[in-house]
Amino acid sequence: MTLQALRGTTDLFGEAARRWWALERTIRRLARLSGYEEVRTPILEEAALFLRSVGETTDIVQKEMFQFEDRGGHQIVLRPEGTAPIVRAYLEHHLDKTIGLAKLFYTGPMFRAERPQAGRYRQFHQYGVEAIGSSSPWVDVEVIVLCQQMLRHCGVEPIRVWLTSMGCRDDQARSAAQLRQRLAPHRDQLCKECQARMDKNVFRVLDCKHPTCRAIAWKDLHTPFVLCQACREHFDTVRRGLTAAQVGFDDTQVFARGLDYYTRTVFEVRAEGLGAQDAVAAGGRYDHLVEELGGPSVGAVGFAAGIERILLAAHPTVADTPPSRQGVYLAIAQPGLVDQAFALVQQLRHNGVLARMDSDGKSLKAQLREADKMGCRAVAVFGEQELQQGTINVKDLERGTQHTIPLESFAAALAKELKPTCHV
Ligand SMILES: [Zn+2]
Ligand SMILES: [Zn+2]
Repeated sequence: MTLQALRGTTDLFGEAARRWWALERTIRRLARLSGYEEVRTPILEEAALFLRSVGETTDIVQKEMFQFEDRGGHQIVLRPEGTAPIVRAYLEHHLDKTIGLAKLFYTGPMFRAERPQAGRYRQFHQYGVEAIGSSSPWVDVEVIVLCQQMLRHCGVEPIRVWLTSMGCRDDQARSAAQLRQRLAPHRDQLCKECQARMDKNVFRVLDCKHPTCRAIAWKDLHTPFVLCQACREHFDTVRRGLTAAQVGFDDTQVFARGLDYYTRTVFEVRAEGLGAQDAVAAGGRYDHLVEELGGPSVGAVGFAAGIERILLAAHPTVADTPPSRQGVYLAIAQPGLVDQAFALVQQLRHNGVLARMDSDGKSLKAQLREADKMGCRAVAVFGEQELQQGTINVKDLERGTQHTIPLESFAAALAKELKPTCHV
């Protein structure tokens, strides 16, 4: 019996792996252009990290974490999200003391033990950006602009940016009290979870999975968040900055982000055509998380984007078009010449040319067939005759032309001629 990948996980290969690679290359380039450095944190973390950051009352912590006890009795989880590990790393490596504003990005697998359903995986992938160490609204602007840019360059268009301010902690306390008061007369109509949320984190009622709860919470409500003067000014600057950067946004669709750590600016980016689950990226400001994880009181803002959803929503881009013929196939005329042929292939690769050869002693005819099947751009037959004459004939399978070049400059000549189709 053959084994299969676990439910909610997938294998990536061929075209899918190439699209993935193109996406990661794009986001790395854009992140670095804005001054963000890559951080790779471990997949395993202590469970306590997410209890203290994401929040004990959230669905992630209550139902969705892959959690287990290791042999030493420690509670371990497969990371469900990227922000908390980045903040942990930021503090562990004292970036708060060495860099004023740490601008970091990541990409990698995340894990949630929910029931797999269409478009939702147990191992899914995100990239994200975190700017830690500033409370300036201009950093919010930079992060949102970068988020929009990355999606556009990945072929996700049109997109809508939903923007809201959840206010500071004081505002949230006042807003929560008001919301509780509004909900109190309807308590019995709310689902069991929301009844518990009313006491612990009442904002979670606003994005409950049950439509009834949402309808009750939002009825005749323009915004649940009452902002102080400073938060209003912060939000105004963010809107002004985005307008100046020509990033369209919608601040009329008020919403709440479910995680406990958000303050002030929150945003969601939605792609058309993904249905109800059309958010491809989301983020916001988390001005207390660093302190709550034992660090100094510094502001921070970031976002995370779902790679699977982006690839689902993305229009065909350059990376998706079927590749034109690529690389060189070195066919071996006599089996005794494998050593020299292998050396030639290595020379090609050393010159940046995608090069292939047969390792199984196939007939010349079979090799030529394989070259065509593999989509090679050029094929060169190498044999005793070529060795004696010191030249080799190269056939361009795309144009149907052929020409002869000296063996000694074979690799360099092909690197020049076939650029860029033979270059990886
Ligand atoms: Zn405020
Ligand atoms: Zn509910």
